[in-house]
Amino acid sequence: MGSNEICKTIVWFRRDLRIEDNPALSAAARDGSVFAVFIWCPKEEQQFYPGRVSRWWLKQSLIQLGQSLKSLGVDLVFMKAQTTVSALIECVSAIGATKVVYNQLYDPVSLVRDHNIKQKLGELGIPVQTYNADLLFEPWEVYNDDGYAFTNFNAYWDKCLNMQKDPIIRLPPSRLLQATGSVENCTIDKLGLEDDSEKPSNALLGRAWSPGWINADIALIAFVENHLLDYANNRKTVTGNTTSILSPYIHFGEISVRKIFHSVTMKQILWTKEENHDGEKSVDCFLRSIGLREYSRYICFNFPFTHEKSLLSNLKHFPWQANQTHFKAWRQGRTGYPLVDAGMREIWATGWLHNKIRVITASFLVKCLLLPWQWGMKYFWDTLLDADLESDILGWQYISGGLPDGHEIQRLDSPEVQGFKFDPEGEYIRQWLPELARMPTEWIHHPWNAPPAVLQAAGVELGLNYPNPIIDIEIARDRLASAIQLMYEKESATRQENCEGTSEVVVDNCGPEELPIPKVFLRKNKPCPSSSSNDQKVPSMHKETFVPDNNERKRSRPSNGQKPEEYNLHDCKSGSEFTETDDDLCSTAVSSSASKKQATGTSNFCSPFLIK
Ligand SMILES: Cc1cc2nc3c(=O)[nH]c(=O)nc-3n(C[C@H](O)[C@H](O)[C@H](O)COP(=O)(O)OP(=O)(O)OC[C@H]3O[C@@H](n4cnc5c(N)ncnc54)[C@H](O)[C@@H]3O)c2cc1C
Repeated sequence: MGSNEICKTIVWFRRDLRIEDNPALSAAARDGSVFAVFIWCPKEEQQFYPGRVSRWWLKQSLIQLGQSLKSLGVDLVFMKAQTTVSALIECVSAIGATKVVYNQLYDPVSLVRDHNIKQKLGELGIPVQTYNADLLFEPWEVYNDDGYAFTNFNAYWDKCLNMQKDPIIRLPPSRLLQATGSVENCTIDKLGLEDDSEKPSNALLGRAWSPGWINADIALIAFVENHLLDYANNRKTVTGNTTSILSPYIHFGEISVRKIFHSVTMKQILWTKEENHDGEKSVDCFLRSIGLREYSRYICFNFPFTHEKSLLSNLKHFPWQANQTHFKAWRQGRTGYPLVDAGMREIWATGWLHNKIRVITASFLVKCLLLPWQWGMKYFWDTLLDADLESDILGWQYISGGLPDGHEIQRLDSPEVQGFKFDPEGEYIRQWLPELARMPTEWIHHPWNAPPAVLQAAGVELGLNYPNPIIDIEIARDRLASAIQLMYEKESATRQENCEGTSEVVVDNCGPEELPIPKVFLRKNKPCPSSSSNDQKVPSMHKETFVPDNNERKRSRPSNGQKPEEYNLHDCKSGSEFTETDDDLCSTAVSSSASKKQATGTSNFCSPFLIK
């Protein structure tokens, strides 16, 4: 391009719905004219098509982003497409674009799609540049001293905090120059984010929530000024605004985590000077929460199978009980355990749950009902306002015993005991279970033990207007113990079988190996023609040096004490998936795509919603 010619850049918005500290938008604005586009392609979302409340939030946020961009001088163009890549190509040719830019995403579905899009655009000679708008630390920046991925949050977060990285926040562009061209666009209503039947329920959401990046900023300031100081003490209280309630904004990129980090760190500096130890502790605690979100991306990037399989291989043999009646009772908040039921009613009514209640309801599904954690994960995904694949995966793996530093599979907490701990006055129960509103606090978390006269006075008829417990907690404990016993037996039988050489051993997290977790390391990427130092990296495999043929892939179990082999993300997939051109590009995307194929088949991710 001659020096007089202006660069025309397509800015592809996804979950970065803000103008402040948006690196892709800033880069495009610096280079010349901008064509801002949001592409909605339901087919590509597959089993993780967002639920009603999440789509409602997205729609409101897009409206606000469109208004902000308009005030800066450009339109936000909406396109409903069969494939995102075809829509992007249409944009490029319509405006004669010289470049496509976007901010990176790390969930398994986006990794596959973005990788394919980048490859396709690269083949067509369209330069693509990607940026980090979502994280403090890119997943490929944080490895242990031996170059392996962390599988323990504390070690990971310590390493992050010791990296001494100063997050840079970009100011919003003061004005934008419109790149012109005509594409097959549509109105936001025609995108289909909200259908007519959903509008009455969604109208209620508007009373409680104010999506959009401007409101995200307001929410951050309100939290930092009013609630951050007591965050460490109050975040365990399940009623009232004790936490930031920023998660839906953060999920859609309406606020930059760098800005959050900056705001709370400023407070920490102030409180340290004032020797306000509560304040300092609260900031550490809050930053750990932000760290957990970073870690969720880290885990998904390095172990892209985690939306289907646990990180620890133990759960492979767990005898899940696919009981639809129990699953329905859990969803409807009719388990007979008030704390669980209140949580399930709240999520249904508002799309929101406090972290503690997420842990309690999720643990109940897995440990008391022995239902597959993936069912619960999909239900949360469908119903949460802040539904976020990586955080959802991390949360469910954490409670179900799939993580080395999560709850142990043996641990079963009684909702009755948890109730008195986190909702001592029963306020939360009364708010969400009107049928128990008149129960005295003493009995509110275990109405089945209440004397008949108390029940009668409270208007509670167990089995009629409020259910009896779906399962006795001691029976649940025994069932869980038997299930774990069976899991160990099956695991050792499989191991025995392998020792006798009756089945092959393939490097995979679900393989019958002694290694509990595969070790992942980062290989240096060969730069792709359009890539820069900003670009999304992938743990990659170089065929000529690394990909063994299918026979070599099979390996014998390491003997005790032997150092485990390094695990490359792609080792668990068939070698035939890689071609010469995949070299640098073959990535988490490839392995995710392979596991996704499984998911639509007979894999353990067999959500009843999909069967319906
Ligand atoms: C089973 C289960 C499922 C979950 N599903 C989701 C989900 O779909 N989307 C989601 O955003 N969070 C999820 N979480 C994490 C957590 O419950 C929410 O992020 C948090 O409750 C949101 O409230 P807040 O914004 O007030 O959080 P705060 O306590 O104010 O924390 C600030 C931010 O840190 C992040 N964060 C806090 N805790 C966690 C955590 N445990 N894991 C990851 N990030 C965290 C969130 O972005 C949050 O907004 C899940 C947790 C569990 C146990």
